[in-house]
Amino acid sequence: MTRNKLEDYEPIVGRNVIDDLRLLAEKLKDRVIQHVNSTSVGGGVAEILNRMIPLFQDLGVDCRWDVIKGGEAFFNVTKKFHNALHGRPENLERKDFDIFLETSEQNIRQMDIYGDILFIHDPQPVALIRKKKDNKWIWRCHVDVSDPLPEVWAFISGFLGRYDAAVFSAPGFSQKLPLRQFLISPSIDPLSEKNKEIPEKTVDEVMAKYKVPRDKPIVTQISRFDRLKDPVGVIETYRLVKKYSDCRLILAGGTATDDPEGAAVLKEVMEKAAGDPDIHILLMSQNDLEINAIQRASTVILQKSIREGFGLTVAEALWKAKPVVASNVGGIPLQIRHKYSGLLCHSVEGAAFSVKQLLNSPEYADKIGVNGREHIRNNFLLTRHLRDYMLLFLALYHPENVVYL
Ligand code: UDP
Repeated sequence: MTRNKLEDYEPIVGRNVIDDLRLLAEKLKDRVIQHVNSTSVGGGVAEILNRMIPLFQDLGVDCRWDVIKGGEAFFNVTKKFHNALHGRPENLERKDFDIFLETSEQNIRQMDIYGDILFIHDPQPVALIRKKKDNKWIWRCHVDVSDPLPEVWAFISGFLGRYDAAVFSAPGFSQKLPLRQFLISPSIDPLSEKNKEIPEKTVDEVMAKYKVPRDKPIVTQISRFDRLKDPVGVIETYRLVKKYSDCRLILAGGTATDDPEGAAVLKEVMEKAAGDPDIHILLMSQNDLEINAIQRASTVILQKSIREGFGLTVAEALWKAKPVVASNVGGIPLQIRHKYSGLLCHSVEGAAFSVKQLLNSPEYADKIGVNGREHIRNNFLLTRHLRDYMLLFLALYHPENVVYL
């Protein structure tokens, strides 16, 4: 993995941003920040932490990352929780809650809590709060909890009373809670293997490796194989487009170690795609350079999610100045202003209409892509995220001041 220094970002974000970060970091140099989540590989949280931790260290902030342990039964339950918090109906029984509590107990016993500030990501490790002493605890919710299943939200929010702050990704996600809430959007790293500039030759090599000819426009969705990403809806969209505009479809994705549903969803997708040589289902291991190349080889990027916390894949595509068609859900409308920095959709038909429009009007598609890149530069790069987190850490020690980030 490339390890970047803060100074490397100056040509992208300007000197002032770098200077501000150094000033803030100076105020945190005696604090230890401990992040905890449930997977080190796969999904947006791991993606961000992998890039953020080294930069904090470069800033002189002692920031570390631990992962809780859990077996198959635990991750089956937490996946149901994840879906339920996103508002999807799930059949939850008493025993599911018991499994969650049992594994939480084991983690409470085993995990070393050493941070001055504990940064707990998502519901899986939420119960660790039982180990709170005189340190500060933040619950960082990456899920769209605007309309959660009440039973699951009641259970998870029951752990939040002793936290010092909660962080949500978008204004619509915040909930009535007895603690301070902050709004901080995720970000992408423009210098990571996934987002850095790469030569066209590398793009060609990756497409050759996956046997995807570049003879016609390529429409792509990159996502874990998860029903909430609606991969079947992506194929339906492609089929409608294909009636009018010849193109290829790439569905590229892997699984996360805390997501047990991937194999079943992949099977459904394979069945739906069977017999069409222009549909390319690419099983990716965590290979950031290849994802970078596939995004760059694409004519249009689709993100047809049914629910979405933020949708890093949208930011990644926009940063590459690609025109994006994405569902108007979760954090996506923060990134896409309709018809300016992308096209929002609400249905398979709507998505197909927009993809066709972009394939038929390359100049319009270029303009939308360029606008999208600037929107990401101004709002969703890692440097802005570092600044917001440092302000949050400082605000924890000044509870009398209300701070809106
Ligand atoms: N990703 C990846 N490999 C895959 C699928 C996704 O590296 O096979 C990355 C993707 O590029 C993005 C992240 O995983 O950086 C997914 O984040 P997002 O917010 O889009 O969705 P999540 O998986 O967290 O729901």
